[in-house]
This record gives sequence, C-alpha cells and structure tokens, in this order.
Amino acid sequence: MVIGAGHNGLVAGCYLAKAGFDVEVVERDTVIGGAVSTVERWPGVRVDRGSSIHVMVRHTDLVEDLDLGSLGLVYDDVEPWAALPHPDGALRFSNDLAQTCASIETACGSADAAAYRAFVETWTPPTRAFLAAGSRPPTARNLGRAAWAASRRHVHNRSETVRNFMQPADDLITATFRDPRLRAAIGWWAAQSGPPPHAVGTAPIAGTLAMFHMQPAGRPRGGSGRLSEALAARLASYGGALRCGDGAAHVSADDAGCTVVTSSGEKIGCRAVLAACHGVTTARLIGDVAAAGAMRVGHGIGMAVRFLTTQLPAYHADVPGVHTSMQLLVDSPEQIRAAYGDFLRREPAVDPPLIVMTPTATDPTLAPPDRHVVTAWAQWHPHELRDGTWDERRDTVADGIAATIDRWAPGFAGSVIDRFVQTPVDLERELGLVAGNVMHVEMELDAMFALRPLPEWSGYRSPYPGLYLCGASTHPGGGVWGASGRNAAAVMVRDLNRRSRRRRHR
Ligand SMILES: Cc1cc2nc3c(=O)[nH]c(=O)nc-3n(C[C@H](O)[C@H](O)[C@H](O)COP(=O)(O)OP(=O)(O)OC[C@H]3O[C@@H](n4cnc5c(N)ncnc54)[C@H](O)[C@@H]3O)c2cc1C
Repeated sequence: MVIGAGHNGLVAGCYLAKAGFDVEVVERDTVIGGAVSTVERWPGVRVDRGSSIHVMVRHTDLVEDLDLGSLGLVYDDVEPWAALPHPDGALRFSNDLAQTCASIETACGSADAAAYRAFVETWTPPTRAFLAAGSRPPTARNLGRAAWAASRRHVHNRSETVRNFMQPADDLITATFRDPRLRAAIGWWAAQSGPPPHAVGTAPIAGTLAMFHMQPAGRPRGGSGRLSEALAARLASYGGALRCGDGAAHVSADDAGCTVVTSSGEKIGCRAVLAACHGVTTARLIGDVAAAGAMRVGHGIGMAVRFLTTQLPAYHADVPGVHTSMQLLVDSPEQIRAAYGDFLRREPAVDPPLIVMTPTATDPTLAPPDRHVVTAWAQWHPHELRDGTWDERRDTVADGIAATIDRWAPGFAGSVIDRFVQTPVDLERELGLVAGNVMHVEMELDAMFALRPLPEWSGYRSPYPGLYLCGASTHPGGGVWGASGRNAAAVMVRDLNRRSRRRRHR
C-alpha cells in the first residue's frame, strides 16, 4: 500500500509493482501528482498547481527506465534556462556554457565571464556527486562514496574543501563575482531550495547551477502534471491500483502486518505501507506526536501567483528566448536578504525577488492562442503572518507581485484578466504541504541525507515495522526528482523479499 499519489509515491508504486508486488496507491485528493500536477483553472487553460520546471528528474534515467515516453510524456528543453532581463544589461543563461559566458562578458565584463566558467568547472564534480548521492539510499557507504567523488580532486587539501562546502552561498558568490546583477542572479538560484544564501552550508546549492550545463531542464508538454499522469498509466500497466479522493486517515503497523483506515472508513490490511505523503502527516497517521513535532518543517517559503493574461510580459531588456526561461526578476543580493528579513519578522516580503515563468509561450496545448499564463514564484512568505491572516492579505500581497512584474515589464498589469493566488496557507490546503513548505522539510544540514526527516526515520524506514516513507520529506529532499520514490521501493523490495525468505526457512 502506498499513501499519496505525488510523483514520488507514483514512482515507488511503479517500481514495487514492477518487482511483482500487489500495489494500491491511496490519494486523499481527486487530482493525482501532488505538487506535480496540472489542472484546468480557467476554461481551456491548463495551469500547474505546483512545480513547472523539471531539473533533477532529467539527471536520472527514470523516464527511459519506465518508458514514460510511450505513455505520452514529452519534455521540451528549457533553453535558455534563466534570464535576468535587467534594464542596465541583461543576462542570458544558456545551457551552453560558452554562450552564457559570452552574455556575461557583454553585461559584466571578461573577469566575471571567466569566473563563471571556472565556477561551473569547479562545481560540476560535486554536483555530479550530489546527484549520484540522491539516487541511492543515504547509507554511510553511499554517502562516503559521494563525498569522495566530490572532493577527490582536492585530496591534498580536504579541510579547505570542507570549509568551501560549508560556507554560505553569499560568501562564495561575493568572493567569485563582481557584478551585482550576476551575484543577484546566482544568489536567487541558490535560494530556491528555501534556505537563504547567507546561511552556512548553502555554497553547494549555488554550485548546483552546474546542472543546467550538464543537461537542460525540461517542461513536460501539456504541463508539469503530465509526468504524474504518465507514471499513473505505467502503474496501471504493471497491474497497480490507484484510488483518489479517499486518503489514509489512520495507519497501524506491527510485526503481524499493517492496516490503513481510509477517510471513508475502509480498513485495508497489507504487508507493508509506504507513506509518500508529508513526513509530519505520516507521523500523525501512526499517532507519533513526538516525531511529528520534531520534524523541522519551518514556516513557509514563498507563494505563487498564476496570472491569466492577454500577452506575455514585455521586459525593458530584450533577451532572446526569455519567455522559455526562468525569468529572474531580482535587483541585488541586498533585495534577497531584505526579503528574508521580512520573513523572519513573519511579514510577506515587501519587495520580493521573483521567478516568472511563461509556459504558454512555448506550449500551445496549455491555452487558447490569445491567452497566456504568467506564473510568479515569490520568496519569502511565512505561513503565519504577524498581522492578520492570509485570507485578509492575499489580494494586497498579490497586487504587490503584479506591480513588481509591471516594474520590469511595463504594461503587464494591464494585460491581466484574472489570477489564482497560492499563499503558503493555500499550498497547505490544496496540496497538503504542511506549513506551505514546498520542500516538505527544511533543506538544511540538520535535515539532509541520513538525517532526513529525522535520524530514526531516515533511509526510508520508520521506527514501526512495515511502515516505510518516501517523498520530499526524505532523502534527497524536495523538487521534481523521483529519486526518493525509487530508492524507497528498492529498500522495501529488499526487506520484503528477505522477510519472505526468512519465513520460508522457518
Ligand atoms: C508552487 C510550487 C512550485 C514549485 N516549483 C518547482 C519547480 O519548478 N521545480 C521543482 O523541481 N520543484 C518545484 N516545487 C517543489 C516540488 O514540486 C515538490 O517538492 C515535489 O513535487 C514533492 O513531491 P512528492 O511526491 O515528494 O510530494 P507531494 O507532491 O507533496 O505529494 C504528496 C501526496 O500525498 C498526498 N497525501 C497527503 N496526505 C495524504 C493522506 N492522508 N492520504 C493519502 N494521500 C495523502 C497529497 O495529496 C499529495 O498528492 C514546487 C512546489 C510548489 C508547491
């Protein structure tokens, strides 16, 4: 039994069913995919509910291994992967390193262009090692192998390497680059996992931009949810079952087996349960209040506004391919820091840096020709506000986000027909993201690798016999990746087969 049809739960379901187990996935929502789903928000207009850009999953062979292409999944490359349409000189981040360096040279000078090339070269091996570590359970052996791969070039200076990895992204960026626009763009990318770039241990997150120069990010044609739909179809082809709109309300697990009681009251007995929902939800389902309280979820990260418009944003600066890319609307590193300062005071960011995405620019299947969806992701926004509630302040804050886009692309506000606002509270209500954290649990060192979500709940096993967990709450964390679902399935298959063998020998 798998609880939750997020993409990780579906990946796990596919691999368990492929290994010959009877699999049923129960999902509380009527839509599958969790934060990897797309729905019709306006007549004829398909809009992502969570993620839009798939980065990490494209560094795995998951799509090929499950042959999701034959089930209709088509990825369009995101090229350029990002753009900063700054009026004083735009930056275009192509997947092609030489093209990116040329853009940086034009806007910021040759020293920064050379620094960017060296930065990508330096951070490519650790990023490869990080991706490899994510594709395996977080055992001491696997993590040791990854650490060795990340640092083997610097074998004579291990302590310096560790110090480099542990430093704040801000310090690394300031020491490497001179131009404030370039510093801001890289810092803003580094902030996307949640922790602010001034936090200790965030340097490698900045370094992960090397990923884009290894393999382009992708956008499934038809919306992010096409990945989950293809996974559900693959699950069905392997004989797995999926029920929606009837999630788990209670779980019990002991040596004799597991029972899941669904919200409709049905009792389902099974050998093992894989909870692919939020870790806190899993702990609550089994009645472990202490574990639910100990998982460090934080309090929100940001919010999204999906604008329905008559046209694409026309930025001051013309960047070829800008509407394909992640449009980084960020002025300076100070703006990023100020937004985090607002968050600490439990206020929405007064001047939030934005990532704008315009999927309808390249995917005509999403909307009629005279309509566009302009998605703005804004950080940081707390789940609980110091003053008032999100229901009271949602519209004012969304107005501010629209005004920010309008500052970068005059005329944008006038093109808006309607909008759908997702504050941290809305993300929790609709997607089950506890406290609105899109990464489930903070992506900080005390909750990564073998500590995610808690030491005794890590490696996809829980303290309860037969209860396993996967998803963004577990290693390797949030984002569209599927690695956690695949790793967890491998761990379960091994455990369950071992248990069967032991029974046979008794
Ligand atoms: C607005 C937004 C934008 C994002 N943008 C990006 C992006 O561009 N790129 C990127 O890589 N990542 C992005 N992310 C993050 C990424 O989408 C998530 O980290 C990831 O999808 C988590 O997947 P998951 O399968 O682990 O969990 P989830 O997607 O959270 O799935 C968990 C599932 O469990 C279900 N569930 C919960 N409780 C129960 C229950 N009791 N019984 C049964 N089912 C239950 C939920 O309904 C859900 O379907 C974004 C997220 C959001 C919200």
